[in-house]
Amino acid sequence: MSKAYESISSALIHGGIPIDERTGAVNIPIYQTSTFKQDGLGKMRGYEYSRTGNPTREALEALIAELEGGEAGFAFASGLAAETAVLSLLHAGDRVLISSNVYGGTFRLLNQVFDHFDITYTISNTDDPKSFEADITPDVKAVLVESPANPLMTVTDIRAVAEIAHRHGLLVIVDNTFMTPYLQRPLTLGADIVVHSATKYLGGHSDVVAGLAVVKTKELAEKLAFIQNSTGGVLGPFDSFLLIRGIKTLGVRLDRHVENALAAARFLSSHPAVKRVYYPGLETDKGYEVNRRQAKSGGVMLSFELKEGYDHKKFFESVSLITLAESLGGVESLVCHPSSMTHASIPEDIRKRVGITDGLIRLSIGIEDISDILRDLDNAIASSEVK
Ligand SMILES: *Cc1c(COP(=O)(O)O)cnc(C)c1O
Repeated sequence: MSKAYESISSALIHGGIPIDERTGAVNIPIYQTSTFKQDGLGKMRGYEYSRTGNPTREALEALIAELEGGEAGFAFASGLAAETAVLSLLHAGDRVLISSNVYGGTFRLLNQVFDHFDITYTISNTDDPKSFEADITPDVKAVLVESPANPLMTVTDIRAVAEIAHRHGLLVIVDNTFMTPYLQRPLTLGADIVVHSATKYLGGHSDVVAGLAVVKTKELAEKLAFIQNSTGGVLGPFDSFLLIRGIKTLGVRLDRHVENALAAARFLSSHPAVKRVYYPGLETDKGYEVNRRQAKSGGVMLSFELKEGYDHKKFFESVSLITLAESLGGVESLVCHPSSMTHASIPEDIRKRVGITDGLIRLSIGIEDISDILRDLDNAIASSEVK
């Protein structure tokens, strides 16, 4: 039977396991149970214990696997739990190369946790394939790429990096949180594993913390299923339901998010008080060309710096529609200060080296009316002028 749909917009709504087989319910029920009756010794009905497998979580896992075009999906209690499971594929003595502006929590996980198990990392300019290749020493077994990587929205050519990495036998992991499969599908560009903080756009409403991983091969699927069950950082049934619900509207949300982000980026770039805007959807951005080849748009996240004579602290106090908060990807516009918030776990010298300045302001543009967003930005910039 041919599939009833071809477009990812339809897959968001009908993908995975769309209907509850037993009842026909058009939403997969929340199977809020820890265990399952066995009909005799060794006679299970497909489930035995919810850490190992739960029908609501399974529907979500099948959905994300389909959306990313992978062999299998795995749902975790947070993005970092997903990354922890994926990095657990490595062994003592292995080294992983990471993009130079990876998420602060990813950096901390490697720098202060995996470090205990002698799994080490090197920060690599994955946005420059030549310099990336030069960082591959014999102990390097994997590369973890974010593209765009925040807060500077640095774009990595995923296809080029995957090609080099595979020539050296590395596992290619891409954190696709900022793009989602609606805008970018790393497995089709050569990655082996995709990880997500589903807390962000996939959930989309700032009401659930969750993580997802999708693998390309059966072999990786077996290994990660074993790790997921053995380490146990799984997503609960209710949160799995919330994510499935969020993913259904991902397409329409992102269309509006991206439209608003581009308008905000253009507005800021032409604002006389703004020194610099980082947004790969702008033709003038360093990553524009590569991003255009591998993603459907420049995404939703952007950062900027104010010129001298403007105080970024005042800017944060002056926004009113836009909320000062950690996180991103919800329907509401948020602003944050990377150097003291999301990227504070990166030591100051490294922050300075990779260009995360104290004046950097990061925006997650929501789906409010664009004129309200622009007015708020304009007012906050005006209020931040040092008189
Ligand atoms: C938020 C985030 C994470 C961590 O995810 P949690 O769900 O907060 O654990 C990882 N990577 C990126 C790019 C993120 O934005």
